[in-house]
Amino acid sequence: MEKKGKREFGAVIFDFDDTLVNTKKAVEDAYEIILSDISQKYGIDKGKLKESLSEIQKEMESRASNKRDYDRANWFRTISGRLGIGMTEEDIQKYADIFYSSVRDNVGFHNKTEDILIAIKRKGKKLVLFTDKDAIKGQKKARLDKLAFVKHFDLIVISGETIPERKSDPASFHKVREMIGMSAGEIIMIGDRPDMDIDNAKIEGMSAALFRGYSKHDLCKYTPDFILESIEEVFDIL
Ligand SMILES: [Mg+2]
Repeated sequence: MEKKGKREFGAVIFDFDDTLVNTKKAVEDAYEIILSDISQKYGIDKGKLKESLSEIQKEMESRASNKRDYDRANWFRTISGRLGIGMTEEDIQKYADIFYSSVRDNVGFHNKTEDILIAIKRKGKKLVLFTDKDAIKGQKKARLDKLAFVKHFDLIVISGETIPERKSDPASFHKVREMIGMSAGEIIMIGDRPDMDIDNAKIEGMSAALFRGYSKHDLCKYTPDFILESIEEVFDIL
């Protein structure tokens, strides 16, 4: 952890993907299975499929956050068109289903996660999970429902579903703060995305800890109050 020093927080907000769970790895594993299958079935070089996939990924990231499309059926359809694969619509849907079910069912997390959440609650702090909706409606809730440790949260907010604002909109953090019912100074946000988790929490006046256990993004506008390399380091700041 980079910065030291404990502060008294009344509420702790956790991001979900690449903070509480290693989504990056689950996504990579899902692509590996899917691209191998497409490569075999349609006789296309797997390297070309990977290139096309990362191109789409980059295109989405370069778009304004409300213009990004993460529906993998659309991605696989685009790859099929660009590489002239001629994938059937049935296969496109099948691969999208494999993607969503494997990310839902095969996501890893630190084995101390539940103990950490229980310990935070024992300290009398409010536990909040704040995550953005997935490409398919209801998918994020289905993914959360799979994980036993999620039951320890006092409040779960899925932006774009529980509230209309997306996490990329600073107004969503204002709404979450109102739902918690505490002043911004009593709240800390822990997440992996400097653009959303850190910047938007700081705009609202909350403290923010950047989690770098699974993904390592460059800092954006604001400097986080803490930098955590492992979920266990949460104990050092709470
Ligand atoms: Mg995240």
